[in-house]
Order: sequence, then C-alpha cells, then structure tokens
Amino acid sequence: MTARILIVDDVFANIRLLEARLTAEYFTVVTAMNGPQALDICERGECDVVLLDVMMPGMDGFEVCQRLKSAPATAHLPVVMVTALDSPADRLRGLQAGADDFLTKPINEVALLTRVRSLVRLKHLTDELRARAANSQTLGLPDPLAIAAAEDGRNGRILIVEDRANAADRMKVALAQHHVVDCIDDPTDLVNRLLTEGCDCLVMSLGLQNVDALRIVSQVRSHDKLRNLPILVLAETTDDARVLRALDMGVNDYLIRPIDRNELVARLSTQVRKKRYQERLRENLQASMELAILDPLTKLHNRRYFHTHLASLMNDTVARGAAISLLVIDMDHFKRINDEHGHDSGDDVLRECAERLRKVVRGIDIVARFGGEEFVIVMPDTETFAASRVAERIRQSIEKTPFPIQKGQKGLEVTVSIGVATAGEGFNSPDRLFKMADEALYEAKRAGRNQVKLAA
Ligand code: GH3
Ligand code: MG
Ligand code: MG
Repeated sequence: MTARILIVDDVFANIRLLEARLTAEYFTVVTAMNGPQALDICERGECDVVLLDVMMPGMDGFEVCQRLKSAPATAHLPVVMVTALDSPADRLRGLQAGADDFLTKPINEVALLTRVRSLVRLKHLTDELRARAANSQTLGLPDPLAIAAAEDGRNGRILIVEDRANAADRMKVALAQHHVVDCIDDPTDLVNRLLTEGCDCLVMSLGLQNVDALRIVSQVRSHDKLRNLPILVLAETTDDARVLRALDMGVNDYLIRPIDRNELVARLSTQVRKKRYQERLRENLQASMELAILDPLTKLHNRRYFHTHLASLMNDTVARGAAISLLVIDMDHFKRINDEHGHDSGDDVLRECAERLRKVVRGIDIVARFGGEEFVIVMPDTETFAASRVAERIRQSIEKTPFPIQKGQKGLEVTVSIGVATAGEGFNSPDRLFKMADEALYEAKRAGRNQVKLAA
C-alpha cells in the first residue's frame, strides 16, 4: 500500500531521517519546513498522512493541526504529532487539536511504520466515501463533509472490558461526563452484545486474567458488522509486542498504564468522532443512491428510473416475442383534495395510493410515480387482456375503501382513471407506448373518470 506522507519539521536533519525510513518502505514523501507551507500542501490535496512536528517557530504544530481539523477540505487528513516532549499535557493539547496519533522523538521505527500504515488504510477508506459523497450536493443533499467535520465525538456509547474493578471504576468516572459508559469483566458474549446493543468504541484490557484479549479482539474484528468498530486497548509498558500485534489486527489505538484520564477522554472522543465521520458519509452515500432512483414521498421508483427501465424491459420482452403492457394511472379531481383538506392530506392520499398499487403488482413489474398524482406501471410478459384486468383491480381497490387522512380521523372517497396500452412484436418505441396509454387515460377522464380505457 503506497501513499504520500507529508513530513513537517523546521529542522532539515529531522526531515531527512524520517524521509529515509519512509522512502525505504516505498512511501512517497512530501516535505514542508513551516506551518503555512504545510497547510498549503494539505489544502491542495497533495498528501495522505501528515507527520507534524510540534515545536516550530511561528505557527506551531498544535495550531497547524487545529486548522487542518476544522476545515471541511482537510478535516479527514490523518495527523500524527511528532514531539520531543512526552508530557501528558502536550499529548492532551495535541488530542484536543484533533491529532490522530503521536510519535515521540527519537522515533521508534516499528511504531512509525505501524502508525503510518494504519492511518493510510483509514485515509484510503475515507477517500473512497468522500469521492462518492462529493456529487450528492448536486442532488440537493446537505454537504456531508461539513456535517461530518462538525462532529464533536461526544455522547458516544463506550463499552469497557476490564476485570480489575478499580481500574474499571476509575475509567467509568472519567468518561461518564462525556459518554454513556458500560463496563463488563467477562467478554464471553461480547460479539453478541456489541451487535445487539450497539457501541461507538470498545475499550479492551490486554491483561484479562482468564482469556486472551487478542483472541477476543480478532473475533470482534472478523465479524462483518463490527469491522469498523473503533477498538482501543489498554496495555502495560512491557506489552510492546502485544500492542504491535493488536495494531496489526486492526486495533485503532492504545493507552499505556497508568492511564491518564484526560488522555483517555481525548482519545475516545477522537475514535467516536472518526467513526461518526465515516457513518455520516455512508448514510449520505445511501441517501444519494436512493435519491437517484426513488420518489421521496411514496418511495416508489421515480420517473427517471421508469424511463431507463421501460426502454430496456421493452427491448428484452419484445425481442423474445412477448408482449409488454403499460398502465398510466391518474387520480381524479386530486386538486380538490388539496384544496378542501390541505396539502398534507393530499400527501397522505398519494402515499396510501402508492401502497395499494404496490400490493396489486408482481415482483417483476415496475411501479413508479411519474409526477404529481400520476403513476405508471410497467408489466412485462403481459397481454392487453391481463393488463386490463390488473387495471380494473386497481381501480376497484382505490374506490372500495376510503383513504384515511388526518391520522385516520377522516376517510376520503378517492377514484382513479387508468389508460392501458400494450406493445408486441415489431413495436419497440417506449415513447409511442407511453403516448398511447396516456391518450387512453385522457379518454377515461373524458368519459367521466373512475374507469379503465384501452388504447385503440
Ligand atoms: P383530473 O381528474 O382531471 O386529473 O383532476 P386533478 O385535479 O386530479 O388534476 P390536476 O392536474 O388539475 O391537479 C393535480 C394536482 O395535484 C395539482 C397539484 O397541486 C397536486 N399535486 C401534485 N403533486 C403533489 C404532491 O406531491 N402533493 C400534493 N399534496 N399534491 C400534489
Ligand atoms: Mg388527476
Ligand atoms: Mg394530473
């Protein structure tokens, strides 16, 4: 996995040292010797991970980090603070500025590469989601990147697995002001619990007495639905090798005992924030996919979907020598419903109508809202006679039972008019089929509404 790593340091020798190690691992290295230069490179999207020196003249690393994390265009860039100072206060400042991780000088090579690799993985995943989210604004959705960047990582659901009662209590107290916290001392049923109760971050002691914590971590990670769950492990200073194994297995972060409560709080908020950032982007992706093919009011297919699929269904059906029928359905005097009972009641009627249409058709038929109070149904492998029977069933199902409006307090008598047209061999124009059905519909209206007419 290759990626572009930006090294920011005011001392050239430091840049050289990191650059040598990273290029040896086939990373591409970009360098900056001060904050403003680094911000420029990030804004232009020319790097995937930032290694940021804390002490620099002018704009220091905390400020650079804070600026990167508060701008929608760069908030997703993983930042590792590289610091000569290993004081808890500095780590805390970095975390509050939104740093994703820390490396302490002199830099341990294994720690450097593990951190960089894991952040590069995260960045690639986020890039993918961002790319797909990028065009959702043209569909009228709110800017997902701004929403995601505004996430503060508070009020998460945290589950702690820790069998030392004292340590568990201390963490619970520290976290309780910011999150909803649960503690368990036995991870036997952990996967099930995570699946049923949901969780924003799992905190796992590596020193559990009766089980191998890493085995549990691997079970959690290998579950499909928990692949993106943030996991933070608690380790002893002597646990180096196990921490590296844990990071290799996809654990997101670790803390060394004795645990600094502020750092615990800050690291958990970072994890919750990242998880939600990705969730926001995923939700947005889902919404934009639906928006492209579904009508938001009725959840039927929209006009665009109808057009694309009518053409291809018609091709296939007619080529097989079979017939395809089209129904155009229009509600009668719908304007009156709006005028007399309000637009919301009109919407209720449209939704209920969509429900009734859905119930009448087969799985392979396409039901779509064509616009306003007009619906269409495409029925492959259906001759005129069968299609007119379906149309008649629809007409009756609308007429027979009044439509509930105003939360079911009233019932409205509603009727529809329907035009039916069928295409068979040698007939392959979707536009003409639609025009024929639409003319039949007009005939039905002219003849007094609440009836089905077949195309001439
Ligand atoms: P006809 O029997 O000739 O079809 O009469 P109509 O009143 O049903 O037809 P017309 O086309 O005059 O009016 C359709 C109305 O549907 C007008 C429009 O305001 C309303 N309408 C269109 N879309 C919606 C919607 O999404 N919600 C609601 N409540 N009303 C809508
Ligand atoms: Mg109408
Ligand atoms: Mg109409």
